[in-house]
Amino acid sequence: MVNPKYAFFEGKIVPIENAKIDIRTNSLQYGTGIFEGIRSYWNEKTETSYIFRMEDHYRRIKLNSIIMMIEIKYSIEELCKITIELLKKEMYSEDCYIRPFAYNSGLKIGPKLIGNKQDLFIYSIPLGEYLNTSKAISVCISSWERISDNAIPPRSKISGSYVNAAFQKTEALLNGYDEALVLTSDSKHVSEGSAMNVFMVKNGVLITPSITDDILEGITRDTVIELAREHENIEVIERSIDRTELYTADELFFCGTGAQISPIGFVDKRAIGNGKMGPVTKKLQELYFKVVKNEISKYSGWCRKV
Ligand code: PMP
Repeated sequence: MVNPKYAFFEGKIVPIENAKIDIRTNSLQYGTGIFEGIRSYWNEKTETSYIFRMEDHYRRIKLNSIIMMIEIKYSIEELCKITIELLKKEMYSEDCYIRPFAYNSGLKIGPKLIGNKQDLFIYSIPLGEYLNTSKAISVCISSWERISDNAIPPRSKISGSYVNAAFQKTEALLNGYDEALVLTSDSKHVSEGSAMNVFMVKNGVLITPSITDDILEGITRDTVIELAREHENIEVIERSIDRTELYTADELFFCGTGAQISPIGFVDKRAIGNGKMGPVTKKLQELYFKVVKNEISKYSGWCRKV
């Protein structure tokens, strides 16, 4: 049978083919949903799946529910338990991606955040690489800018805001690039990738756009900052980055739940370093892949066994 087989929908785990919404659903019409992307990693040695930083993802969607005025009736621990139950039923022996989605499930017409029924569903899919992690990828600066906090807040992972990401990613692919780098809404600074955060290495220091540069405050970004500072003793600075600082960086990489840690070899056809994965990126990536598979006891608190 093809995966996934189940979804958590309308309060219970049901066969995936029974998890269907009405064409009038408010969030389908107006993008009034918020979601998460969580990964579970299959550890071949222990033959166990571990869900990475699940509590932190559910904490983030709970916070975003305040912005979007969506009431999530489950606690963080209840959401974790439901997710584990769902994954136990799927019995994956591969990496997978979990998609919790809280939304205006009511059928009333009109773009507003209040006055509609609301609900939450969760499903999962097997997922290998989203971006190449072994070979440095080629990216362009998108001609589509990031939406600002005062338009559609990027930090709140609103489903409708991903139209912005779709423009950026599609433009990049149609022009022969692997991914897009996006500038802030005032076109002054680097924000992030279409659906991933970005880091630059310069003179041994790790630099990433600050949380007020129209980014999603990524959990992988936070993981990278912690691993760099606490484990690798690398200085990390959160500050605005100019476009041309990217061209002259020693190394660049994307990070995200989907993207994992993906080296960037070219920006607008200019080679970053020698155009291959740099040593700092490699070191952090190797550490990251061990951490997510619960192979480093110091970080086992981030890994929840299925
Ligand atoms: N930025 C955007 C716009 C994203 O969609 C994602 C993926 N969730 C990220 C950054 C990375 O966030 P995280 O590390 O929490 O997955």
